[in-house]
Amino acid sequence: MPPSPASVGGDMLSAPSATGFRRIRIDDKRVINGDTDVNQLVPFKYKWAWEKYLAACANHWMPQEISMSRDIALWKDPNGLTADERRLVTRNLGFFVTADSLAANNIVLGTYRHITAPECRQYLLRQAFEEAIHTHAYQYIVESLGLDEGEIFNAYQEIGSIRDKDDFLIPFINILTNSDFKTGTLENDQKLLRSLIVFACLMEGLFFYVGFVQILALGRQNKMTGAAEQYQYILRDESMHCNFGIDLINQIKMENPHLWTAEFREEIQELVKQAVELEYRYAEDTMPRGVLGLNAPMFKEYLRFIANRRCQQIGVELLYPGANNPFPWMSEMTDLKKERNFFETRVIEYQTGGALSWE
Ligand code: FE
Repeated sequence: MPPSPASVGGDMLSAPSATGFRRIRIDDKRVINGDTDVNQLVPFKYKWAWEKYLAACANHWMPQEISMSRDIALWKDPNGLTADERRLVTRNLGFFVTADSLAANNIVLGTYRHITAPECRQYLLRQAFEEAIHTHAYQYIVESLGLDEGEIFNAYQEIGSIRDKDDFLIPFINILTNSDFKTGTLENDQKLLRSLIVFACLMEGLFFYVGFVQILALGRQNKMTGAAEQYQYILRDESMHCNFGIDLINQIKMENPHLWTAEFREEIQELVKQAVELEYRYAEDTMPRGVLGLNAPMFKEYLRFIANRRCQQIGVELLYPGANNPFPWMSEMTDLKKERNFFETRVIEYQTGGALSWE
């Protein structure tokens, strides 16, 4: 039987069928405002998204597989942790217990429906599940330590430094989840792009980092090692979420260069500055005094360093030239293979399938 036109040379040729129906051509796929069938994953155009989906699945983990027994013993011991260390833990969880829920809603109720590339949707489905795993992890830590759930889960309403971060984010999420919002105009496509940048670069890519450093710093001092191990997995997942978001943003820019105006880039710089300020205030609030060898001023430099990196990744002019990373050990945290014996609770090289690798 001769090959059908659609499979000649393995290429994605399309030909009108007898019914006038056209098969999908790679060149017709678009990340936003596409008019190809979103149910057809293949032919692949956005292989970077499919590869991230595979890598994310290979990194699968579940919170309850990590023992919290040493953390519980330390938390119950009146001399186990200082008052400042306890404040750091509860304020830290106060932000994170609701943050990944906001992230999940942003993906499921917002971002997903505006993205017309099925490869990207496939990754977003995986990402949404990972946000659920992260919320599960924070809940597991809160429950294991017997913390006041009312206090922790209401922190995003009651603690100013946490509420301010969420107040900054929520309007950008609401744009995408508003059922009347549709892409397809310059104004709305820029709104989508702006919200995607806020979500990937400022929420997942900046607002999580004071919290990650804090709990991983505890782990480095052999304290709260079960929680620290979970945060290490979460950091790995979140690095990939951030990198996926950046790829998505850059792909949208490539396909829609008219969105990327000088004025738009200036607006993004303003948002980055606001986010750095809000995250710095959160650092001050969670660490009113030096704790664990950390203090709030160190985070000023760190947040500027991260902000520069995010600007560079999406092609916005750097805001803080010369900012350095005061926590070089955080970079080591991004490679679990090198640090597999870092915490003593268990061997942390965990994988269900393919390679354990970072994006
Ligand atoms: Fe995330």
